[in-house]
Amino acid sequence: MAEPRRILVTGGAGFVGSALARHLIAATDCQVLVIDKLSYAGDLRSLEGLKDDPRFSFLKADVCDGAAVRAAIGGFRPDVITHLAAESHVDRSIDGPAAFVETNVVGTFSLLTQALDYFRELEGPARARFRFHHTSTDEVFGALGEHGAFTETSAYDPRSPYSATKAASDHLVRAWGHTYGLPVIVTNCSNNYGPFQLPEKLIPLMIAKCLAGESLPVYGDGRHVRDWLYVGDHVKALTRIFEDGAPGETYVIGARNEQTNLAVVHRLCDILDRIRPRPDGGPYRTQITHVSDRPGHDHRYAIDPARLEQALGWRPLETFASGLGKTVRWYLDHESWWRPGLGGPQAGRRLGLSLA
Ligand code: NAD
Repeated sequence: MAEPRRILVTGGAGFVGSALARHLIAATDCQVLVIDKLSYAGDLRSLEGLKDDPRFSFLKADVCDGAAVRAAIGGFRPDVITHLAAESHVDRSIDGPAAFVETNVVGTFSLLTQALDYFRELEGPARARFRFHHTSTDEVFGALGEHGAFTETSAYDPRSPYSATKAASDHLVRAWGHTYGLPVIVTNCSNNYGPFQLPEKLIPLMIAKCLAGESLPVYGDGRHVRDWLYVGDHVKALTRIFEDGAPGETYVIGARNEQTNLAVVHRLCDILDRIRPRPDGGPYRTQITHVSDRPGHDHRYAIDPARLEQALGWRPLETFASGLGKTVRWYLDHESWWRPGLGGPQAGRRLGLSLA
């Protein structure tokens, strides 16, 4: 019988990475090592349920720290390195792009260097099994007009410091595949939502503001379109890709679920009206206010996931209604997880306008 695989997850204390670690432990027999520097976005409480599992381990380290990452890879001997560590918030990238260049570009370069050194020492089945997987975003493809969707062959056209650094990291990963023969796979995913997402991102921010009785700040006219995917469906796609994805391949991941930002906020308000009515009985929608738009705000993103569906048989399990319902209930049941995050150094301050 084949040995259970060993999966090293960078950024595994963040939103998507922790969902992946929880899924790998719950649904597979893999060994999992999470490496995370625990930036403001990393939270060990997202991994709380795993800490006593003998198949799970955690290392606090920066992906830019070559010596620490080299030692971790050498000790753990992964079959898969899946790279999710990143600075991930577009608004923060507008205010402070340097951290994005450091982690997303230099950090990815550093990790690739260590991964290649390790790969070159592998032989036989261990070498054949090894994959370096890089998690990226649909934002690298820029903005769409009213029609069409991004595919694996879409041209790169990043517009924000965040998407530019993610695009740079995608190019580095593919270059390490083409030039050095590292067996790399890149995935570009649409917007995720679900439990354990910091309330600086649209959906948990709006839930938190609804509950606090505060205004719901919608950027511009709210007609920007995003293609929303439940995080649990994203990590199931990644797990399929680790198993059967082809080295050198790219997969775009999405649920064919385009929504305007305003429609998302309306849905959240309507769910909360039903399950947590306001003390005054009024509709949450009355809290919506329109604020000045994000500089360079991309109009529309959409993903055509046909390759992933056809090649690997992946389908999302959640509809937007079921996933959003689960998400709202999770935030209602876990205020102690997200409320402290609201009190951080940026609390209440509008991000992403300072260089506009
Ligand atoms: P997140 O901000 O919630 O988590 C990022 C994690 O990386 C945090 O735990 C943080 O501590 C860690 N980290 C940051 N810098 C690090 C460093 N230098 N060394 C080690 N760890 C570091 O982000 P997320 O939403 O979970 O996104 C994870 C990945 O998925 C990112 O690469 C992002 O670009 C990609 N992605 C996210 C989405 C989404 O909607 N959330 C969609 C598509 C792609």
